[in-house]
Amino acid sequence: MAETSYRNAKNVGHVMIGQGSISQLEGVIAPHRGNSEPAVWFFDHFFKHNDLPDRLPIAGDDIVVFVDTTEEPTTDGIDMYTDQVRKELDGRTASVLLAFGGGATMDTCKCVGNLLTNPGKAEDYQGWELVKNPAPYKIGCPTLSGTGSESSRTGVLCNEVKNLKLGMNSDFTMFDQLVLDPDLLVTVPREQFFYTGIDTYMHCFESLSGSYRNVVVDALAEKAIDLSRQVFLSEDMMAPENREKLMIASYLGGLAAGFVGVVHPLSAGLSMVLHMHHGIANCYALSVLEDIYPKQYAEMMEMMEKQGVQLEKGICQNLTDAQYEQLYGASIVHEKPLTNALGPDFRSILTLENVTARFKRM
Ligand code: ZN
Repeated sequence: MAETSYRNAKNVGHVMIGQGSISQLEGVIAPHRGNSEPAVWFFDHFFKHNDLPDRLPIAGDDIVVFVDTTEEPTTDGIDMYTDQVRKELDGRTASVLLAFGGGATMDTCKCVGNLLTNPGKAEDYQGWELVKNPAPYKIGCPTLSGTGSESSRTGVLCNEVKNLKLGMNSDFTMFDQLVLDPDLLVTVPREQFFYTGIDTYMHCFESLSGSYRNVVVDALAEKAIDLSRQVFLSEDMMAPENREKLMIASYLGGLAAGFVGVVHPLSAGLSMVLHMHHGIANCYALSVLEDIYPKQYAEMMEMMEKQGVQLEKGICQNLTDAQYEQLYGASIVHEKPLTNALGPDFRSILTLENVTARFKRM
């Protein structure tokens, strides 16, 4: 007998999809509200000055947290939000956690959820299958699509001390319910819509180009890429039908959650050292990987031109040697994706000189 161990894959429990579906949120929450247990609402700080919270069924003693998404979520930040929520809960348990935002807000909700029911700090759970106890019931309502956080089993965090960007990978990290309402994407600024939206294209082509494959992942990834192409090669990526397509592409991409390749490791380096957001960092990474991904490089360029989006040049000029080494370190540490893309000898291709030259071209 072969000694294969089969993974028992978990999916998001319930998904409501369609324009206007957010109006049914109250009914979705109702069965999970306890008698005196508050819900905790996580909003991207963008919604502080927006009427969305006013339109939602937030009860009197619910807890509202605005997540600062200026930078990518950090382990320290998660510890801070967890303390804040614990203090406001004042001994009560949370009935439901809800997230309104993009990957940063959703990942914050997912990670705080794990820490509400597990002891210790966020950094203790960066890795695979480290979370022991289930989190409170979680409902994800993306207002920005592309990262696939809504359907993935990870919450990605930057650990500044360890110079490491790594997720809390666990079945307990996943949302229990999603409400995918494309109307929630209306207010996203164009550039952000592009950079975040194209993340699902990146994940999926990286997994399809790699050597660690599986039929389900391939099937989901192929469809997510197909939808991404329809959106970003169209005349207006933000047209109503395209907002819905991108939401579905992101959802499928998160479900696929295949192994990534070279784009994501370089992107992680940029996020760690230059505090760059994930989506735009991916685009910078692919912009210097034309030798490794020629077809996708050309396609991204075509999409950017079509949508009138431009990457400013020279972002890694004039850094210190120490910073280039830090960029390299935070990229090359991702052995599994790099092996997936380039084989076990990836270090002979991606030397310090080779990678530094790529960063300098960005
Ligand atoms: Zn990504």
